[in-house]
Parts: sequence; structure tokens; C-alpha cells
Amino acid sequence: MINCWVKKINSRANLKKEIEYYFCTMHSTAYILLGSNLGDRMSMLLAAEDLIQSKAGVISAISKVYETAAWGNTNQDAFLNKVIELKTSHSPADLLSLLLETELELGRVRNEKWGPRTIDLDILYYNFEIINSDKLTLPHPEIGNRRFTLVPLCDIASDYIHPIFHKSNADLLVHCNDQSEVKLYSQP
Ligand code: ADP
Ligand code: MG
Repeated sequence: MINCWVKKINSRANLKKEIEYYFCTMHSTAYILLGSNLGDRMSMLLAAEDLIQSKAGVISAISKVYETAAWGNTNQDAFLNKVIELKTSHSPADLLSLLLETELELGRVRNEKWGPRTIDLDILYYNFEIINSDKLTLPHPEIGNRRFTLVPLCDIASDYIHPIFHKSNADLLVHCNDQSEVKLYSQP
């Protein structure tokens, strides 16, 4: 009888490991920052999530939505931002292509640097990969400098360790020099 229970418990533990193994090997984890300050901002974020899920993988966690005054070129509307966790089988380069394609589908026009945009999709992390190519920098170089990135990121990945700074996102937020107000957004 006891042996029978031990067997059952072991097989459950193995099943759990098998599932974890499956997800670890079949899927990478990416964190993506979504931002919008043009048009119906909330609808843009939701449309982007739908497109990302249909093209690029499975969204496994979503932060709350935050509103922040625009950076750089400040003569424009405030941004709404959120961060999603995506399980994906696409390589970092392919994922970036899919996100740039999604930006275009949602009416993104690149006029000026830091100008208003219907949607901006930035890869913050892809597993613990470090990449410095012409088209892609990972982790995203500005993570530690922007509260509008760190606040939503900490909703879903506060313990995730930055592979270059070797600090958690929660630590990066505590030590971030950015003073901007990042307000929790509730739809009017
Ligand atoms: P920004 O997000 O800084 O406002 P853009 O959205 O216009 O700028 O992106 C410009 C380019 O940045 C993209 O075409 C892409 O090739 C490059 N890029 C480099 N690293 C990343 C990253 N981690 N995530 C998204 N884009 C990136
Ligand atoms: Mg971008």
C-alpha cells in the first residue's frame, strides 16, 4: 500500500518535471514593453497583445497599465505602458521582426525620434541573452534608467536577474535615478 502511494507521488513529481522540461526547452521567455501615446491608447495595447499572441507565442503574464508623461520630446501626449511575459519558440531576431511588423500593422509611422506613436514594442529581456547587433540590443539598454519600464516589469518579474548588472528588477527600480511619476491607469 505504502509503495503504491510512493509510486503515485513519484510519478506526479516526474510529470511536473516533464512539463517544466517541456516548457524550458520548447519555449524561451521574453519580456516586452508595450507603449502607446497616439489614438485610442488602451485599444492599441490590447490589439498589440492579440497580434503578438497570434504571431509569436503565448502570453503568460501581464502587468497593470501605467501612465507616464512623454520622455525626450515632451510636447506630446502621455504614454500608456504595460509589460508582458511571452513564451516563444522564435529566436530573438525573429521575434523583433514580428514586433516591428506588428507596429506597422497598428499604424506606427516613424517620423521623429521619440515622437508620438500608436504603438511601440521593445524587447526588454530574452531569457538571459546578451546581444549587441546593429538591429537588436539585449537586454534593452534603457531598462535601468526608466521607471515607466521598471514599474510594470516589477509587477510580473521583480526577481528576474539582469544578466549584465546582476541585479533583480526590484533592485534596479530602487536604485533608478528617474524621478518621473508613473501612475496606475484606470480607464476613464
Ligand atoms: P525607440 O523604441 O527607442 O523609441 P524605435 O521603436 O523607433 O525606437 O526602434 C528603433 C530600432 O531599435 C528598431 O528598428 C530595432 O531594430 C532597434 N532595437 C534595438 N534593440 C531593440 C530592442 N531590444 N527592442 C526593440 N527594438 C530594438
Ligand atoms: Mg521601440
